[in-house]
Amino acid sequence: MEDTVFWKIVRKEIPAQVVYEDDETLAFLDIAPVTLGHTLVIPKKPFVNIFDIDQETLARVIETVRKVAPIVRDATGALGVHINSNHGEEAGQVVPHLHFHIIPRHVRDGFEFWPKIDCSEEEMDAVAEKIRAGISF
Ligand code: 5GP
Repeated sequence: MEDTVFWKIVRKEIPAQVVYEDDETLAFLDIAPVTLGHTLVIPKKPFVNIFDIDQETLARVIETVRKVAPIVRDATGALGVHINSNHGEEAGQVVPHLHFHIIPRHVRDGFEFWPKIDCSEEEMDAVAEKIRAGISF
């Protein structure tokens, strides 16, 4: 298990602007916010990402996101929020302790992302078929 900054925050070894805490989850301000009020929600247990977390803990984390997101929106006067989460280094996950970003959004705040790719209907069919074939639950 990697000793990450978030694991240190859970253990209170380094400071953080904690805005909510319960027995399983923690919400605190991102140290380098995309917009003011950018909040991170984590499980207290050091799961890396979606590929190793159990269903119950993930449900608790999502429940905290659900409860905290409208409060972050209202506290920042935002019109909406991005709920974003990166899973795996190649997907942009820098801290290997599962987290959801709650990013307040305002009109013309300059935050742009998610360019679209061009792909054919055949490619869409093929990838959908591969995903369906992998599903065994
Ligand atoms: P990721 O790229 O892994 O999805 O996001 C990691 C986030 O953690 C980044 O937005 C980064 O600013 C934030 N972060 C990194 N180190 C610290 C820290 O020590 N304290 C806090 N509060 N946030 C951190």
